[in-house]
Amino acid sequence: MAAFGFFRLGRLLLAVTATSLKGPALAKAPELPQTAPVPQFNQEATPPSPADIPVPEPRPADAPEAEPPQNEQPQNGQPKTQQPEPPAIAPQPPEKPAQAEPPASPPAAPPNPAEADKKTEQEILPDPRSAAIAGKEMPAEELACRRRLKSMGVDFEERKPEHDTAVGCSIPYPVVLKTLGKSIAIGPETELNCQMAEAAARFAASVIQPAAKAEFGTDIKSIGQASAFVCRPRHAGGKLSEHAFGNALDIASFTLSDGKEIDVGPTPPQKHAEFLDAVRKAACGPFKTVLGPGSDADHSLHLHFDLEPRRNGGTFCQ
Ligand SMILES: [Zn+2]
Repeated sequence: MAAFGFFRLGRLLLAVTATSLKGPALAKAPELPQTAPVPQFNQEATPPSPADIPVPEPRPADAPEAEPPQNEQPQNGQPKTQQPEPPAIAPQPPEKPAQAEPPASPPAAPPNPAEADKKTEQEILPDPRSAAIAGKEMPAEELACRRRLKSMGVDFEERKPEHDTAVGCSIPYPVVLKTLGKSIAIGPETELNCQMAEAAARFAASVIQPAAKAEFGTDIKSIGQASAFVCRPRHAGGKLSEHAFGNALDIASFTLSDGKEIDVGPTPPQKHAEFLDAVRKAACGPFKTVLGPGSDADHSLHLHFDLEPRRNGGTFCQ
């Protein structure tokens, strides 16, 4: 019995020893690999950093290089498309890639060789917007603009892209306005880019209509425009008009719901002048350029509003 008991005890001890050995052995095995891989990952992450250490210096040099190309772009005529879009484009990420690719070679190539001499004579860089070409699909921002027009009750139609390579006129996605809202008609044929159309519609609702009610106690029924999109060559040494991009609207008259007409001119009746002055002052801001009677001979019979992109969002109101 004693021998048998001792034998069993021995087997138990062996079993316990084996278990205890296996236990630590298994525990140690996983621990070693775990610690090993961790440093390796760290090393993988670090390898790029040593390489970056020398890079920091070259990067500053790369940044300046990126800017010069922009300066060079105006000369080539191709990149210009990207510069003008930002202002309008903050909301137009899809347009940038679409337009940047096509204008790269086709549009810039033809005008450059033919008019290289003219450029140097005029010393005015071509407007980057002249290279804007409509893509196969309307950009999201253009679609959104049209939804906003509809929400304001604006009646409008789509128009084929305007693109005159000789003069430089361009509207990739023009619209023709029938009204500036639910209650104000506009005519004749008012072709604009959607951004300008929207600005005009908002201005009509927020400024023109309230000003008419305040001054005349009635609504504006219609607006007579003198110029919207107009593709005319720039004067020697001058730049293209905002009208060449459908980015300007000239208003010559306002007609009240009772049929009375308020004409823009140098010497309007007092009540008309008060209304016109109120509209003109309020236009500076919503529009980036505001001209009219007194500005110069060309604007004695209409108010000129446009969205010309200016540095720092500045305005020119005279
Ligand atoms: Zn004008």
